[in-house]
Amino acid sequence: MESRAIPSLMELDTLRDLYLHELKDLYSAEKQIIKALPKMVKAASNRQLKSAFNQHLEQTKRQAKRLEDLLAGHGESSRGPKCQGMEGVLKEGDEMIGEDADEEVRDAGLIAAAQRVEHYEIAGYGCARTYAELLGDKKGAKVLDTTIKEEGAADHKLTKLARSVINVKAKAAPSKSSRAKNKREQSMVSGALKDFVKKVTG
Ligand code: FE
Ligand code: ZN
Ligand code: FE
Repeated sequence: MESRAIPSLMELDTLRDLYLHELKDLYSAEKQIIKALPKMVKAASNRQLKSAFNQHLEQTKRQAKRLEDLLAGHGESSRGPKCQGMEGVLKEGDEMIGEDADEEVRDAGLIAAAQRVEHYEIAGYGCARTYAELLGDKKGAKVLDTTIKEEGAADHKLTKLARSVINVKAKAAPSKSSRAKNKREQSMVSGALKDFVKKVTG
């Protein structure tokens, strides 16, 4: 099925229009992330990764609220077109959740998906912060900067987790064929054990 871009109904005559458009786009992105993160928490196996996703979920709720307040301060609602870029990035994460994967390999894949989310956000927030500065919206620039720093820290945390634990475990994960072999060997051992127990107990 062909997906069509939903036309934005906003008129973009000025940089201010574009600024507000970007804020709404970011708001849409954050709302989608708030829906997606609980699924990432569930899908993650590693305890630290689960808690990193959970922490970022709470942070993301605050980020969405900041955008709401910022838009309200400009006399705008947070309603706007759906951020299609984030929709696509999150869809890839969702596909990763659905893969028939070794849990440690999946965790590594979840990090790869989550880092795409963070980088996409950082790009959008960076542009919005620049517009805020240009337009003299000092408070907006400051608020956006706070969020950019949080996204950067979340990204950095994931890199650290991947490098120190998750990718290392994923690398050590047995391939599917050796997993199957292990299973066969296990069942042979337990079969032999059963035979032995039968013999001994009569
Ligand atoms: Fe965010
Ligand atoms: Zn977008
Ligand atoms: Fe984020």
